[in-house]
Amino acid sequence: MTSTVTRSAPGLDADPGTVAIIGGGASGVLTARAIARDSAWRTVLISPESRPGRGVAYGAAEPWHLLNSRAAAMSADARDPEHLLRWCRARGRAAEPTDFLPRSVFGEYLADQFTHADRSRSAHHRATAIGVRAGTRGYLVTDDSGTETLAEHVVLALGNPPPCVPSGVSEAARRDVAFVADPWAPGALDAVPVDQPVLLLGTGLTAVDVALTLTRGSRRVPVEALSRRGLPPLAHPALPAAPVALDLPAGAALAPLVRRVRAAVEAGADWTAVVDHVRTRADHLWNTLDPAARERFLRHAQRYWEVHRHRMAPPAAARFASLRDQGLLRLRAGRLVSIEPHPDGGLTVVVEGAAPRRYGAVITCTGPGPLPCSAGPLLAGLLTDGLVRTGPHNLGIDTDENGQARPGLWVVGPLRRGRLWEATAVPEIRAQADRVAAALPHPALQPAR
Ligand SMILES: Cc1cc2nc3c(=O)[nH]c(=O)nc-3n(C[C@H](O)[C@H](O)[C@H](O)COP(=O)(O)OP(=O)(O)OC[C@H]3O[C@@H](n4cnc5c(N)ncnc54)[C@H](O)[C@@H]3O)c2cc1C
Repeated sequence: MTSTVTRSAPGLDADPGTVAIIGGGASGVLTARAIARDSAWRTVLISPESRPGRGVAYGAAEPWHLLNSRAAAMSADARDPEHLLRWCRARGRAAEPTDFLPRSVFGEYLADQFTHADRSRSAHHRATAIGVRAGTRGYLVTDDSGTETLAEHVVLALGNPPPCVPSGVSEAARRDVAFVADPWAPGALDAVPVDQPVLLLGTGLTAVDVALTLTRGSRRVPVEALSRRGLPPLAHPALPAAPVALDLPAGAALAPLVRRVRAAVEAGADWTAVVDHVRTRADHLWNTLDPAARERFLRHAQRYWEVHRHRMAPPAAARFASLRDQGLLRLRAGRLVSIEPHPDGGLTVVVEGAAPRRYGAVITCTGPGPLPCSAGPLLAGLLTDGLVRTGPHNLGIDTDENGQARPGLWVVGPLRRGRLWEATAVPEIRAQADRVAAALPHPALQPAR
């Protein structure tokens, strides 16, 4: 992999054996845990949270927000699938492999993994990283506390890029209190009026979570959720279907693969088992498609894949269905044209082919935005300096198969999307973390760069 421009710090000679991990969500903590298995390394995890581990997904979760995966899949250690179950039971919580645990419990579990790490080899530095510079041996990470961390290796575990604000949202609407750009920001939903209609932009799992939260109390005015196709996620079955193994055609074209999947379901295979099987091969299949086929997948098939792959836990699905039955939640299919402040408060939303409607709040529940426009300041700087570059289809950062963007600079988590297809869920993040840990060259053997 080549970098075009690299701003380097030639005199910098980093602390051998130190790995700086930037980001304190699931990716950062699972990477620290994986690297700590080798006593040659010392990790410094840089993140602003007082207690790393929960991240976006498991930090702001309310008690009714459940994992979308069964407990059996969520152990922090791939070699010990019962680890999470034992952790729960040791704390008096009954937990079975097929359960969908509260996300807050899982967040506590992840935080605990870091809290109980060997402090002599695993430190937390509470700060937001603002820059990374390359030296002759290693990197210098600067942060908003004024500290400089010298490290032999740096792991970027920054999570998903934030969603892009849709282009139809005017500048004035973006600044309006009725527009919520990030539903996971602390207190983001507190001021949403209960007596006025609310519009969610997106109908995926984030929209489901937000709808469940908004309808928890005394709301009697419907919440609407808008997406191009108006498709909500499907539900997990109460018990997992028996696994299937299919001979999937990996090749440059998408159509044979789609035909094979359809044929398997038409022949009687359980669709959840088929999707779960495709997931195990998804990175290979994605990487063998040619770029045009990948574009076609992103444009025409991605949403259908997502509603089948990212499923609701059965209790969440039951509540979601009941809200729709009561008319408290309505799904809309359509293309957003514009959002403007309404002169009497709230926002006016225009959807193609429909009369303008006024909402008391509009909440962005779309997925991660593309790079580079959605990159936060740190990533934007790394892209500008040529230390990293965007990967296929601008979905994430380009890396080799181990997650290395350039010698000594690694990426773990959703930012690997594009090179990988499945990069955001815990089993895949855990595998990425293990792979980085295994690929780190031994400090003593590290050649000069
Ligand atoms: C609502 C939700 C529910 C999910 N449910 C499931 C599930 O049930 N099962 C499953 O397998 N997966 C699930 N996922 C997917 C997956 O677990 C998450 O995407 C995963 O937790 C990502 O973790 P992360 O550490 O990469 O990112 P994040 O959790 O976003 O953490 C990023 C971290 O980076 C830090 N950071 C960012 N910039 C800087 C900087 N400049 N300096 C220092 N620190 C920085 C942040 O403070 C944060 O600590 C869910 C995701 C979401 C959003």
